[in-house]
Amino acid sequence: MTTPSADRTTRPPVATPGGTPVSQPDEAGDRLTADERARILAKSALFNPPDAALPDGRRDLVGLSREELAAELAAIGEAPFRTKQLWHWIYHQGVTDFARMSSIARPLQAKLAERFVVGRPETVVAQTSDDDTRKFLFRFRDRQEAETVYIPDPEEDRGAVCLSSQVGCTLSCRFCHTGTQTLVRNLGAAEIVGQFMGVRDAYGEWPSPKGETPRLLSTIVLMGMGEPLYNYANVAKAMTIVMDNEGIALSRRRITLSTSGVVPMMDRAGAELGVNLAVSLHAVRDELRDELVPLNRKYPIAELMAACRRYPGASNARRITFEYVMLRGVNDSEADARELVRLIAGMPAKVNLIPFNPWPGSAYQTSTRAAIERFARIVNDAGFAAPVRAPRGRDILAACGL
Ligand code: SF4
Repeated sequence: MTTPSADRTTRPPVATPGGTPVSQPDEAGDRLTADERARILAKSALFNPPDAALPDGRRDLVGLSREELAAELAAIGEAPFRTKQLWHWIYHQGVTDFARMSSIARPLQAKLAERFVVGRPETVVAQTSDDDTRKFLFRFRDRQEAETVYIPDPEEDRGAVCLSSQVGCTLSCRFCHTGTQTLVRNLGAAEIVGQFMGVRDAYGEWPSPKGETPRLLSTIVLMGMGEPLYNYANVAKAMTIVMDNEGIALSRRRITLSTSGVVPMMDRAGAELGVNLAVSLHAVRDELRDELVPLNRKYPIAELMAACRRYPGASNARRITFEYVMLRGVNDSEADARELVRLIAGMPAKVNLIPFNPWPGSAYQTSTRAAIERFARIVNDAGFAAPVRAPRGRDILAACGL
């Protein structure tokens, strides 16, 4: 998905009162037009997953919207109220066997089982780290695989599930191991929701008959393999399912979508999903970001920051997270820290500093402890939280793909 730098907008940025340059909007809504979004969505559709039908013709009900589920049931002559009933069993109770859906009469259970399944990805590997981080390798029906990581909160009985959105990635970020793998395909909504449900199965975290639900899996971060905004349709559908109040019922405040900066789709995700936003920034000057995050050649820093400033719902309680991988001698100077502060001035923002986790063949080294501390202090002194992310699950190679 890298594009030549000639693609960069030619309209000069303007300065805000705080001094931060942003793109000038024009009446056509700059380049953030419906056309550009349509182009991204059309390209994304080329990488869609194979059909959800099993070889025996049965259809997986996981990943269908409520409307699609209602249509499937109507097609076999069932009344609309069955949709709510099935939705509850599938997403609230986590039941995969129709015979266990006790509010449904046996003849209908059998009829459903003839035509449908409630699927899960196959768990190929589940490894637990010394720090209780757990990595799952899930295999889908066409034998493609993706990783999902559960990262427990060390202080409390809860944690985040990091979901993948694609198999491979188009974006080739220089510091990212996943970026060395070409994009195979998008994950479907069923496969994205299925990762979360598969992890819930592993932790037995569905309601007990008494209705108690432990809340270990309290948040979702879309930070695994892939760029979620290059698979927007499936990601949006999956998150809509996950947020549905009668099912998994995770609030939008508990979901964070991480993007490398697909600017036109940021606006749409904000308007339609309203989930928390994380941005993989990693550099504060276009020249360097062009190299580290090649998508920057298409959507440079000024445009990215403008999209962040207008992201709906961002507030001090829901700050935008800027991810910043610390690369020794590359992006970790005091001048870089000061420029970062200038870029995010006035924004409800926090900065996650991520010590680089080297992988075989990577071109970078992690910053020194002193450099990270110096950088964090400058950002902190400007009034922004700048926690240094502790590497988790290193022994099972579950640490962030960064
Ligand atoms: S950092 Fe994210 S967007 Fe960039 S190559 Fe890695 S997986 Fe893709």
